[in-house]
Amino acid sequence: MPEPLIYELSSPGRPTLPLPETDVPEAKLPEAFLRQELPLPELSEIDVVRHFVRLSQYNHGVDTGFYPLGSCTMKYNPKINEVTARLPGFALSHPLQDTEVSQGSLALMVQLQEWLKEIGGFAGVSLQPAAGAHGELTGILIIRAYHQDRGDQGRNRILIPDSAHGTNPASTTMSGMEVVEIPSDARGNVDLDALRAECNECVAGLMLTNPNTLGLFEENVLEVTKLIHDCGGLVYGDGANMNALMGVVRPGDIGIDVLHYNLHKTFSTPHGGGGPGSGPVGVVDRLVDFLPGPVAEVVEEGDDDLPPLYGLVMPEKSIGRVKAFMGHFGVMVRAYTYMRILGKDGLRQASDLAVLNANYLRARLGDCYHVPYDRICMHEFVAEGRWEDAPDVRALDIAKRLMDFGFHPPTNYFPLIVHEALMIEPTETESKQMLDAFADAMLKIREEALSNPEILTGAPHTTPFGRMDEVLAARQLVLCCRPEDFQPSED
Ligand SMILES: *Cc1c(COP(=O)(O)O)cnc(C)c1O
Repeated sequence: MPEPLIYELSSPGRPTLPLPETDVPEAKLPEAFLRQELPLPELSEIDVVRHFVRLSQYNHGVDTGFYPLGSCTMKYNPKINEVTARLPGFALSHPLQDTEVSQGSLALMVQLQEWLKEIGGFAGVSLQPAAGAHGELTGILIIRAYHQDRGDQGRNRILIPDSAHGTNPASTTMSGMEVVEIPSDARGNVDLDALRAECNECVAGLMLTNPNTLGLFEENVLEVTKLIHDCGGLVYGDGANMNALMGVVRPGDIGIDVLHYNLHKTFSTPHGGGGPGSGPVGVVDRLVDFLPGPVAEVVEEGDDDLPPLYGLVMPEKSIGRVKAFMGHFGVMVRAYTYMRILGKDGLRQASDLAVLNANYLRARLGDCYHVPYDRICMHEFVAEGRWEDAPDVRALDIAKRLMDFGFHPPTNYFPLIVHEALMIEPTETESKQMLDAFADAMLKIREEALSNPEILTGAPHTTPFGRMDEVLAARQLVLCCRPEDFQPSED
């Protein structure tokens, strides 16, 4: 049962904190702006503290339990990242400060760019884009600028496999280019014949999510990128999930010309709920001049006595600015910290363990859940949440039932090319015990689907609130909990 709402606890005259006597003359306020009816709850301090702490406990986060959200990598966020992001020299610096008094921040940005270049195999990086999808838009604008600069005006199509992330076609459409969808083959790779048929002089480029949203590495990636290059196009790589590849494969070495990273996924920053992200873009040599700017750079080399001088430089043929100031600097500090602490070998190990954990779960669940493209996966895999012998149970029911076992549900109903998809990404930090507990719950759910399907279709049973009407909740936001605004659900 949910606890009483804050308005129900309210009692007239109960003091929270006494306000001090005013020490300035009272002024008359404009009537039009004054609200006479402002029903605020009246509570003591402890009531308020309990209310908000209780609300926070209704939430499931990576700090409270397993969170196997596929595609959007909810990985553990080391707390040291928060300490460094709050260092006054970083947290209190202002983007309009002169570069002479921002040398530390600029040095951090340059170092972060260098590491991202090394991880991706690229010649240049811009840290400006605010999120993954924003990096995609930036990348497509770079591709467009490249073709236009060469006087190659007719290229207005971007080929996108149907296993791509949904933001790929959205970003392409926003850039004004036309999306051409390419089907996948039976192994979950790009269908090469279908791709070949679309390769012509109208192609500006291809967007390749690799690993794709099935969690699979594109086995024919060299052939795919060659086909695109041979017809004069460029290859965009969606590198949101570089946490499968760090230290193993460099996208720049396999024909990717421009790629975005998701610092808030691969390099650990809390995200979700619309919090800040960062989607830096890396490019090969021939695209460096088109990067959005200004970009942090060493403008004067140092020597034994003097450190280098850092500055901000606009690339020669830049597509311009894509974000105010320098982008989301706090996220950069967290990513920098994460990389520095793990180091080269640690990043490689994070990828190895992410892939190992996903394959362990895939193997443990494989007998009970159909995995349509069943081969060694990368950091995540996609299973079907449906069975012929339990026709009433759907992926949504499995997801909701997992909450009763204390787990956050995996992403469901995405990717669209798998029916009743359950997309599972355990991440690298989870122990074998945790993976086993999750697998045991999933196997139990499979049994329940046969013996007691109602327990699944009625789930969750242990959470403070039952099954929500998520569409209604999104359309009719109720942000206040006054009793008259709040219609508890039937459950
Ligand atoms: C998360 C994700 C994106 C989009 O990133 P945002 O930061 O949410 O905009 C793009 N592609 C893939 C593969 C992703 O997982």
